[in-house]
Amino acid sequence: MKEGSGMSTYLLNDRFVKEDEITVSIEDRGYYFGDGVYEVIRVYGGILFTADEHIGRLYESASKIRMDLPYGEEEMKAKIEQLVKDNGIIEGHVYVQATRGAAPRVHQFPGEGVVPVITGYTKAYGQGAEPAETVSLKSVEDIRWMRCDIKSLNLLANVLAKQEAHEHGCYEALLHRGGTVTEGSSSNVFGVKDGVIHTHPVSNFILNGITRRVVMECCEELGQPVHEQPMALEDVYTMDEFFMTSTTNGIAPVSAIDGRQIGDGRPGPVTKALMAAFDKKLPAPVASK
Ligand code: PMP
Repeated sequence: MKEGSGMSTYLLNDRFVKEDEITVSIEDRGYYFGDGVYEVIRVYGGILFTADEHIGRLYESASKIRMDLPYGEEEMKAKIEQLVKDNGIIEGHVYVQATRGAAPRVHQFPGEGVVPVITGYTKAYGQGAEPAETVSLKSVEDIRWMRCDIKSLNLLANVLAKQEAHEHGCYEALLHRGGTVTEGSSSNVFGVKDGVIHTHPVSNFILNGITRRVVMECCEELGQPVHEQPMALEDVYTMDEFFMTSTTNGIAPVSAIDGRQIGDGRPGPVTKALMAAFDKKLPAPVASK
């Protein structure tokens, strides 16, 4: 099938279905409570990037909310690969989520026999829509709960932060807890000062981003020093470089924070070196095989 064309295939539990065959209960706990977890996995040149890490994190998130998924990581990977193949995705991503299932609305876990509901779809990226060379950030107080390490469906604080950033003409919110920078509303963030990268350590206050992990690997390979210590918001404005990372954006250089230009407003040398190292880790495009 041509990329992104025709009737897409979706994942519903252990089956592949068309859109008109999907039924999800109004009593789904994802709908009532955001009681579930999810992942987004990038496809480059028709190949899933860091699929094992994403699927591993999905099962970790599920376990942290005490939810047993009905099948294992291997089967999940095979299903996701099948979805990408069936939908002819070359450049795009897969979204997969698992909720605690459908049951009459009570807060505590439903009784025996209620099984998680798994859904997944693919998204093909349009041709020629080149991402912006740089992005701008708006600082927003981080009002999320204390388990930001779980990739949960509860994204209300992230939604509000991103909206505030967009209303100020910015691409992403730079979250801080009382002046201590944590991460973006849907990204991890890094500052560069005097040749050293600064980023929040992995803890319950941030999501342990898969792109962050790849960037840390690149730093190691490049001999690039990294200081995993939280940055003070007041210090970010005078950083030499700043960038954010996520599955959908890869490494995105930051040109300004709260309207204050970072460096000369263009991607700096450390960011550029990391972008080049990151690119080398991506699956080779289909055309060059
Ligand atoms: N932090 C948050 C809050 C996110 O939603 C995301 C996007 N999943 C990230 C960080 C980046 O994680 P990843 O690189 O795994 O996409």
